[in-house]
Amino acid sequence: MDEIRPNLFRLPIPLPESPLKYLNAYVIKSDDRNLIVDTGLNRRVCLEAMQAGLEALHIDITRTDFFITHLHADHFGLVHRLVSDTSRIYFNRPDAELIESWEGFDPMIAFAGRNGFPQDELRAALEAHPGHKFGSSWVPELKLLKADETIQVGAYCFQCIETPGHTLGHTCLYEPSEKIFIAGDHMLIDITPNIQCWEDTQNPLQSYLASLDKVSRLDVDIVLPGHRRVFTHFDRRIQELKRHHQNRLEEVAHILRTGAPQSAFEVASRMTWDIKSESWDAFPIAQKWFATGEAIAHLRFLEKENRLERHTKNGVVTFSVKN
Ligand SMILES: [Zn+2]
Repeated sequence: MDEIRPNLFRLPIPLPESPLKYLNAYVIKSDDRNLIVDTGLNRRVCLEAMQAGLEALHIDITRTDFFITHLHADHFGLVHRLVSDTSRIYFNRPDAELIESWEGFDPMIAFAGRNGFPQDELRAALEAHPGHKFGSSWVPELKLLKADETIQVGAYCFQCIETPGHTLGHTCLYEPSEKIFIAGDHMLIDITPNIQCWEDTQNPLQSYLASLDKVSRLDVDIVLPGHRRVFTHFDRRIQELKRHHQNRLEEVAHILRTGAPQSAFEVASRMTWDIKSESWDAFPIAQKWFATGEAIAHLRFLEKENRLERHTKNGVVTFSVKN
């Protein structure tokens, strides 16, 4: 645990088996109410790390509220085991609506199959999915954020900044006088946030790039991300992330220029990934899943730019580049 600014602490919560290594929970203490930003997976190792940290900081949970940046299990999964009767859980409306209308993983599984994910590996992919294994067993009452909501914690006044992309309603916190940006999974260092698409109606990569442009107007001295280390080069990181996705888009277009039309799964198998693995076949199944979702997001962006032709054969969607 480290104190990043007065009364603002980073609490690393381990994420075993994940390349993300740990989740950063942020604890902001005040004489009135405290705030905890993001929580970890619904599993014992996360709960114990959180409880030990809160104890060391003498946090009274009955005087503590929560802010969850987005619905993914490594941020949201543990909150229901931490709240007290008097705790508020600040959360964005679009992700809350996704949770409310959630019909299980079946639609996602079917969508992955249509995008070329091998039928005989779909079940294994689901079993390995962190949201399936370590999601919350029930959803506590959420305090949905209003437009331009601010949250005062001691001397800090955080503005809620909607940054759709990583999820539909992903929301960051910005403290303008201290120039602190709590980024969730909108901006990470060393690794790039995973941008996945699991529905034909969405274009999350376009939303993500627009959200990067939106936050680029903020004056930021320090970025507190949801994973890995804290960093300071906010503007440069935004440019790096934008360039990364431009390169990715060109890589996907290049892959599609060679050979027959390809499914998202096939495209994913030919993209370059930062994962320590000898070959695509040796990829952990959960990483194949995330890679396919990421490939779909890039294909969708190119398709919306009218650069791709879509084909369907035997229930599988494939793409080729328009000439
Ligand atoms: Zn995360």
